[in-house]
Amino acid sequence: MVIRSIRWRLQLWLGFLLVGVLAGFGLMVHQLQGVTQRGQLEEDLERRVAALNLAVRGGAGPSPGGLRSMGGPAGEEAREGRRMPGPVVRGDGDRPRPMGPPPDGTGMSRSGPPKARIPEGAFEEAMAGGPPGGHAAVWSREGVLLRRTEAGPPDLPIPSRPGRSTQMHFRDRDGLLECYQFTELGDCVLAGRSLQPLKRAQRRLGWNLAGVGAAVLALGLGGGWWLSTRALRPVEEIRAAAERISGGALSERIATTEPDSEVGRLAGVLNATFDRLEAAFVRQRRFTDDAAHELRTPLAVLLVEAQSALSRDRSPEEYRETLHATLATAQQMRRLTDSLLQLARLDEGDGLASTLPVDVGEVAGALAEALRPLAVGKGLQLEVHTVAARVYGDAERLGQVVTNLVANAIQYTPSGGIVKVRTAASEDGCLLVVQDSGIGIAAEDLPHVFDRFFRADRARRRAEGHSGLGLAICRAIVEAHQGRISVESAPGVGSKFTVRLPAAKAA
Ligand code: ADP
Repeated sequence: MVIRSIRWRLQLWLGFLLVGVLAGFGLMVHQLQGVTQRGQLEEDLERRVAALNLAVRGGAGPSPGGLRSMGGPAGEEAREGRRMPGPVVRGDGDRPRPMGPPPDGTGMSRSGPPKARIPEGAFEEAMAGGPPGGHAAVWSREGVLLRRTEAGPPDLPIPSRPGRSTQMHFRDRDGLLECYQFTELGDCVLAGRSLQPLKRAQRRLGWNLAGVGAAVLALGLGGGWWLSTRALRPVEEIRAAAERISGGALSERIATTEPDSEVGRLAGVLNATFDRLEAAFVRQRRFTDDAAHELRTPLAVLLVEAQSALSRDRSPEEYRETLHATLATAQQMRRLTDSLLQLARLDEGDGLASTLPVDVGEVAGALAEALRPLAVGKGLQLEVHTVAARVYGDAERLGQVVTNLVANAIQYTPSGGIVKVRTAASEDGCLLVVQDSGIGIAAEDLPHVFDRFFRADRARRRAEGHSGLGLAICRAIVEAHQGRISVESAPGVGSKFTVRLPAAKAA
């Protein structure tokens, strides 16, 4: 249940992300700090070893001048505590010379190797450079410990020399870091420090990082919870509103405080959908009410006719009359139910039997001509001007539109009037116009003529058998063809119905 909640999922993800990032960052900082501190420690030890090395080499040889008496660059570097690139010793005079193995390659001078000794004070001076603390020791080439600091571990074994290396080496032992170097003659100098302060600093840094990380995590999760609660509140409101609407409160809408936010826009779309649903629901209810009302009248007529016929014995003539009346009423009911069925199918989107190329000009011309006797019988002039205009659609349904419009025009035009039917074709599509010089439609009725069951003179038209569904069916058929139907009319002048259909395109 918890994992299904979006809020908890967000929190979990945020938690994972924060823990991952913070742990990674913390570890990196911790490691970096450790490496940097150890690097500094190593550099200090190297400087000290270099200084000690110089002190030892200064004391070796036939002209022991000591560190203090050294001149030239080697002495300078030693005094500055810089690391010496290679061992140098004082030779003769002030001129330093590289001290490599003697030319005979034995590592011994002709009079034997000079004995290692440390000039007075040089050891202390070498130890004085760099940060205080630490320990140091010097061994002679025979492995005899010459000097060592008082500080430092009690046991201070001489390091083993790797080959004949004169490089600096490090060794870690018992929590100590030691740097040592052998001179060319085999004397050994060593400087070391305890790693404890470094480890303590690392531990302190670890705790500090963990503390800061925990605070950031708590802040991040708290902020995330607050944000997700705030962001999801409208969703909760939408759910509650949708529940009320589905419970029957169709006029209920979702209140939005931030209409431009993502959820606000969603609420806007849902509100628009609810508007349309409510309108459709109201239309549907009115349609059902109207349909029931329309059917009740002929049903009442049928019942009255049948009851009065059965109330006493009638002559065959009277029975025949009753049967004619009931037949007419039943036919009216059938027309009505057929129209209702057709509208229902068009509403559902399967009102068109086929979508094939149709020449609206041909269909309109033929059907208008078929109605000519009706027009002539009413003393009307019928003008038909049609040109080929092809659309994709259902020829029978489009014919129904033509018949309804032309029949209405004939119906609502008094004798002596004129009815015009014409079609036109353009690149966009085709145009069908049915115009009459009839009674026209009142301005207040114009917006409603395509509504279901609308009749300008309701009572009279119903009595004449008009259902008020003809134009509603026309509109449904035209819209099923992606077209539009419109009307212009003025009372006493006439009406003009225009149908626009899109041009024939591949289905
Ligand atoms: P019916 O004709 O069955 O009443 P329609 O849907 O065809 O239903 O028409 C609806 C109403 O529109 C009619 O009752 C009439 O008042 C009006 N009407 C339709 N066509 C015309 C027209 N050509 N001239 C004047 N009024 C018309």
